[in-house]
Parts: sequence; C-alpha cells; structure tokens
Amino acid sequence: MSDTLIANLAIVRARIAAACARADRDPGSVRLLPVTKTLPSERVRQAFAAGLDCFGENKVQEARSKAEALADLPVQWSVIGHLQTNKVKFLTRFASEFQALDSLRLAEALDRRLQAEGKSLDVFVQVNTSREASKFGLPPEEVVAFARELPAFTALRVRGLMTLAIFSDDKARVRQCFRDLSEVQQRLLQEGHPSQHWHGLSMGMSGDYEIAIEEGATVVRVGQAIFGPRPLPDSHYWPGAR
Ligand SMILES: *Cc1c(COP(=O)(O)O)cnc(C)c1O
Repeated sequence: MSDTLIANLAIVRARIAAACARADRDPGSVRLLPVTKTLPSERVRQAFAAGLDCFGENKVQEARSKAEALADLPVQWSVIGHLQTNKVKFLTRFASEFQALDSLRLAEALDRRLQAEGKSLDVFVQVNTSREASKFGLPPEEVVAFARELPAFTALRVRGLMTLAIFSDDKARVRQCFRDLSEVQQRLLQEGHPSQHWHGLSMGMSGDYEIAIEEGATVVRVGQAIFGPRPLPDSHYWPGAR
C-alpha cells in the first residue's frame, strides 16, 4: 500500500517538475498539498512516514477527527472546503490554513474566534471561476471589493486566491477557469493590494494540476493521483458533481 503511495508521489512530483519546466517556472514555486479526505487516519500516518506533513481536508469535522488521531505528529492541516459560520470553532482549534473564505460574515466569525484564542490563520479567498451554481466561492467580479474589507480582520493572513475548475473533459474550458483566477489576481495587484497577500494561486487537482501550473498555480491540491480513487463520489463533496 505504502509502496504505491511512494510510487504515486514520485509520479506526481515528476509531473509537477515537467509542468514547471514547460512553463519556465521554478519547481520550488509550486507547493503540493496532498488531499486526504475519506482516507482513514492510519493512511495519513503512512503518508507522514513517506515524508508528507501538510494535508488538505474538505470537511472540517472529518479533518478535526484526523488531527486528533494524529496529534502526536507534527502535521499541518489545511481546510479546503466550504465552512459554515457555526463551525468556525472546530476549525481554529487545529487548522493552520483555510482555503475557502467566501463571505464577510465568515471572515468576521473566524477573526473573532482567532482573536479570542490569540491565534492567526492563513487564508485563501475562494473564487467561483466556473460560475457553476453547485460551486462555492465569490463571483470573480466581486473579489476586488471583498479584498478591500479584509485588512480589518487582523487575525487572517491573506495568502491568495483559490478555485476549482469546471468539471469538463474540455481542457480549454478548464484552462480558462485558471486564467480567470490569475486575472482576478492581476486586478487586485493593479488596485494596489499588496502582492505578499495575493501572491498565492491555489488551483489544480488530480485531473488538471499540470494545466494549473502552466497557468501560474502556486499550490496544487492533489488527492486521488497520490492516494488512489475515492470510494465516495464527488457529489458527496460538491452537490451537482458527477
Ligand atoms: C477533493 C478535493 C481536491 C482533490 O481532488 P482529487 O481529485 O482527489 O485530486 C482538491 N480540492 C478540493 C477543494 C477538494 O475537495
């Protein structure tokens, strides 16, 4: 099992390096975030033994129970799925990063809780580049106004933008989603928002991370290409998906 994991990881890393070479980018500029949703904590423990130490999870309660099961390891957790405001208290306890910020109400709730706990959190603003009703995230044209409000929340360390591309076999449409995210970033920088806050582009999953890297991804969130197919259909995570 663990041999497969190590072999898969080597393949993914080689593909990341190849995509960086095609795009004339430094491979060190792309962070691989392994996504462990649905995997039992014992598999995550094996992944740690294979050298991985930061994991992405879509659902906060599932993430929290794995964080508790692996509390003896120096592992960092990134929550990459939609969060309800009333679940903020679960997240702040264990997560070091949150990639699905999509409302001011949530920013406020996170900030309040973090201030009370004397903590801070890295965040990415999620953008709905595919404009599918089933996906979370701000419409691209609302991001600049949203960004203006974020400095008020001093416990949130803004790191960049996150998106999920359209579910489509049409690679041009997938690529367009990534280009749209990069355009939102350009707009923010033109408006004078500091580049240290908006440097990050979290985009690309098992099926499309190489395209995302060609379009400027700094974080790719990869689950199945490392850990094998998931038992649950993606509709469990994204209503409306296949
Ligand atoms: C599950 C998930 C991923 C990874 O998907 P894979 O197909 O397993 O690579 C990436 N991002 C988000 C938000 C996810 O929920």
